[in-house]
Amino acid sequence: MKKIGFIGLGNMGTGMAINLSKNNLEILGFDIDQNIFEKLKNTGIQKSNDIETLTKQSDIIITMLPDGKASNDVWLEIIKYSKPGQYLIDCSTIDVKTSISIQKIASAKDLFTLDAPVSGGVIGADKGTLTFMVGGNLETFNNVKFLFNIMGKNSILCGDIGAGQSAKICNNMLLASTMIAVGESFKLGKNLGLDLNKLFNVLSTSSGSCWAINTYCPIKGVGPESPSDKDYVGGFATELMFKDLGLAIDAVKETNTSIDYGLQTFKKFEKLMNVGEGKLDFSNVINH
Ligand code: NAD
Repeated sequence: MKKIGFIGLGNMGTGMAINLSKNNLEILGFDIDQNIFEKLKNTGIQKSNDIETLTKQSDIIITMLPDGKASNDVWLEIIKYSKPGQYLIDCSTIDVKTSISIQKIASAKDLFTLDAPVSGGVIGADKGTLTFMVGGNLETFNNVKFLFNIMGKNSILCGDIGAGQSAKICNNMLLASTMIAVGESFKLGKNLGLDLNKLFNVLSTSSGSCWAINTYCPIKGVGPESPSDKDYVGGFATELMFKDLGLAIDAVKETNTSIDYGLQTFKKFEKLMNVGEGKLDFSNVINH
């Protein structure tokens, strides 16, 4: 049986690792936050005390870290202790350049690598319904696809290394913009005197429907359970969305792409960061 090392057991990583463990895979976990392992008791995830031990004991290592700096630091450490033939998959959302750079360093040591950022949020991570957007070669992808099938419903090989990250920033720029638009639509509905649960029933089954309404409705008490029901605690932190929007804006500049909504969305999230609400779920943007 293949042993899976999982590094970064935060909001997303926890659900992903638990789903792997429920499917009879042996999971060795590592996170710099020791408190996380209290919550992981009785989940079947074994705790590793450091990256060296985890690397030496795993066939496939998955990382789910906050940003490019963390992925870079962790991958360089993994690579130091790795042996040829191991698989390394980065599911974090990071910039394309760092992703390509760490994968090239790993390939030079005969490791097989993929960038495989995800969409579907904490709910998708818990339920095993994520979408994986993958960069790398077809053979590597096919060899680890069984893991994507456990943690998610869709995995799409988008192109060579870095292509998964490119697809991810396009997706998140769109998601951030639609979340703001969903907030405005509910605001108008409220001011028109509509029952917001009825409005949800309409919007989620009509031409305006989208993931930000159907799965992640940002209005408390409306739609399926989402971070808005917990006063925007947990979920996908605004600071992480702001990071992704920054990556998108950098890519827009590098590719001379002309955009409008994406820039306005970036500015709106920048304001949210400036008022100190970076830790709350990104759907809180509708309150600003
Ligand atoms: P998180 O902050 O909850 O989890 C990150 C975890 O990594 C934390 O537990 C942290 O302690 C750990 N960590 C940080 N540096 C580390 C290091 N050097 N070594 C070991 N562990 C380290 O973040 P999250 O919400 O789980 O997001 C993880 C990634 O997934 C991010 O790149 C994010 O952009 C992306 N993402 C998040 C969501 C979401 O809804 N939360 C959705 C899609 C993609």
